[in-house]
Amino acid sequence: MTTVAAYAAPAAKAPLERTTIERRPVGEFDILIDIKFAGICHSDIHQAREGWGEAIFPMVPGHEIAGIVSEVGPGVTKYTVGDRVGVGCLVDSCRECDNCKAGLEQYCTGGSVGTYNAIGKDGEPTYGGYAQKIVVDENFAVRIPDGLALDVAAPLLCAGITTYSPLKRWNAGPGKKVAILGMGGLGHMGVKIAHALGAEVTVLSQSLRKKDDGLKLGADHYYATSDERTFQDLRGSFDLILSTVSAPLDFNAYLSLLKSEGALVNVGAPEEPISLNLFSVIGGGKTLAGSMIGGIAETQEMLDFCAEHGFGAEIEVIPAEEINDAYERVLTSDVRYRFVIDTATI
Ligand SMILES: [Zn+2]
Ligand SMILES: [Zn+2]
Repeated sequence: MTTVAAYAAPAAKAPLERTTIERRPVGEFDILIDIKFAGICHSDIHQAREGWGEAIFPMVPGHEIAGIVSEVGPGVTKYTVGDRVGVGCLVDSCRECDNCKAGLEQYCTGGSVGTYNAIGKDGEPTYGGYAQKIVVDENFAVRIPDGLALDVAAPLLCAGITTYSPLKRWNAGPGKKVAILGMGGLGHMGVKIAHALGAEVTVLSQSLRKKDDGLKLGADHYYATSDERTFQDLRGSFDLILSTVSAPLDFNAYLSLLKSEGALVNVGAPEEPISLNLFSVIGGGKTLAGSMIGGIAETQEMLDFCAEHGFGAEIEVIPAEEINDAYERVLTSDVRYRFVIDTATI
């Protein structure tokens, strides 16, 4: 076991504080990663505050991890000491079900293991990236290409793959009109990726406050959803709407912005059930869908895509002592566009 400095929430809704945790010994197929940066995802806050249901405490959040391999087990073949690697939302899965075999580990039916707030196959709770080291099976790490700095790469491990996967699956690309709903941590990555895929990109945000940023990151158009005219002007416009919003929405209104046979795909996860008039999907043969992160191979594909196109996330690097303030700022959308913890400060 290795004792590692970390930041943890001792109980639901309690502020995070400095502590230590034990990491398991490096097993045959494990790698030890010296974590350099860890992104703060909105879902860290949902879980640390039990917004999505009962959680495991103490909790070390963090599933946007970037670092350097510092030790490898004897059976490891993919990585060597010194490699630049990332870990996202999953650290294990059953590896045998149809979804695992298809590279959809995120939908594993045999029991996937979350990077934190989960119980690992050793029966111990998993602890995430707000820590100085992590031990992970080599099959659940991905390689960070040399062209990507570790700090801007970290948020790609959740925000990047969460937007890349549905944009690819629903064919965002040349000739397609894609709206990104929400201009936060996920949304700003959605804009960059949809633009790099060749789609015509529109941002739908509450206000025009971040319009200049949106256009700079690759959006062609930018509308405020607080303005009723937006819904009149854009009626029937989009092939695809990717909603990154985790607050409750008027789904009927957003579905009206789709072309016939268009799709509204949700990656944001409101804590409450939604209300939907099914005529909103029946008329026009529309699809209301969801998507959750992406598989390991697709996460690697996404990192390679971002490196090829020369972008990571837009970030604000913070010391660990500012994590609690950062949580409050995420909740008021006061971040451009992802907080990344410099784990040397833990
Ligand atoms: Zn996340
Ligand atoms: Zn499985």
